[in-house]
Amino acid sequence: MKNKSIYIAVNAGSSSLKFKLYTMPEETLVCSGMADRIGQSMGEFSLKYADQKYQLETPIPNHEVGVELLLKALLDTKVIPSYDVIAGVGHRVVQGGKYFSGSVLFTPEVVEKIESLIPLAPLHNRPNLQGYFAFHKVLPSIPHVAVFDTAFHQTMAPQDYLYPIPYQWSTQFDLRRYGFHGTSHQYLVQELAKHSNLSPQKVITCHIGSGASLAAIKDQKVVATSMGLTPLGGIMMGTRTGDIDPSILHFAALKLNETYENVYAMLNKQSGLLGVSGMTSDSRDLEEAHLAGNERAQLANQLFVRRIADFIGQYHIRLHSANALIFSAGIGENSGFYRQLILDEVKDALGIDFDRELNMKTRGKTTKISTPSSQVEVWVIPTNEEIMIIRDTYRLGKGA
Ligand code: AMP
Repeated sequence: MKNKSIYIAVNAGSSSLKFKLYTMPEETLVCSGMADRIGQSMGEFSLKYADQKYQLETPIPNHEVGVELLLKALLDTKVIPSYDVIAGVGHRVVQGGKYFSGSVLFTPEVVEKIESLIPLAPLHNRPNLQGYFAFHKVLPSIPHVAVFDTAFHQTMAPQDYLYPIPYQWSTQFDLRRYGFHGTSHQYLVQELAKHSNLSPQKVITCHIGSGASLAAIKDQKVVATSMGLTPLGGIMMGTRTGDIDPSILHFAALKLNETYENVYAMLNKQSGLLGVSGMTSDSRDLEEAHLAGNERAQLANQLFVRRIADFIGQYHIRLHSANALIFSAGIGENSGFYRQLILDEVKDALGIDFDRELNMKTRGKTTKISTPSSQVEVWVIPTNEEIMIIRDTYRLGKGA
């Protein structure tokens, strides 16, 4: 292992810290893992490397302890010979607001700006920063880079990112559409360009996991995306509503005699596939229940598919005819069942023809599932947000 060749991608949540290590410039995955249940009475740490798995149950009171565990585990397992080989750390930051249209090296000013955005994404930006502080404390002399979920969407025009609310709310409080999963959408259009030379490239990217968003992207620039001010907006998700009439917040609070905060939490955590099915947010279980004839599961799936199809239609118009559609993330990469339901809704309007058998057997592998006669290419592409974080950390870190 060469000196200073290892880069770490970090995704810090409120009670977890996920990480992947790559060597650069080879882009070889070295190991991955997570510290989970941070702050609870008992924590879990796991590290996967080569064909092996290292696991530990121990209290992890905060992110700093999580990072110490990770670094110690890397040495104990001999995944790295010493900390000297670590060249940089890239941190996922969910909300970059209007300030960041690309990744940046962490500085005190950058930290200040990310802190100022906490009110717009309290569940994400605070833990993202905790992850940075924890890593910076133990590895202070290497570059740390902030990679924003919102950055790739900064190319949207005002008519695509503004809401029809009093204009001052947008200008004074920055209440506007930001969009999320930007690193994933960007990765997908870059991957597509490696496999298909569409010119112009007019793509609808469908990142469909437990959180889900669509984007309309022309020649690698986002023109529209479904998530909004927060990741609650857009299409229906595992536990989130997606776009709804905002009056529901008001009426549900009245009917349930609950605070807006509590109803807002329910729109985030008890709605979507979980809320409609009354069973689960996991698409695998809902697929099984659907096929077994469970009517609530079928209803949840029909609603889910309808919302996605509506956005695909909208973005097809927004792009003046898309020429590619990409499915990705947990559901999009792995479930032929959901892809077929969605494609059957949109195929006639978009002139799509796809290989049903190939669709059903495609799982986690880059595959074109449309036939040569299809007017829109349909691709399944596994996303890789970590490699995007690593690439930016390598690029910016070299100049640091
Ligand atoms: P993500 O948020 O991208 O991890 O996606 C989570 C969602 O993807 C859950 O609803 C899972 O049920 C679904 N999912 C993950 N893996 C698979 C798989 N192998 N087959 C079908 N669905 C999957």
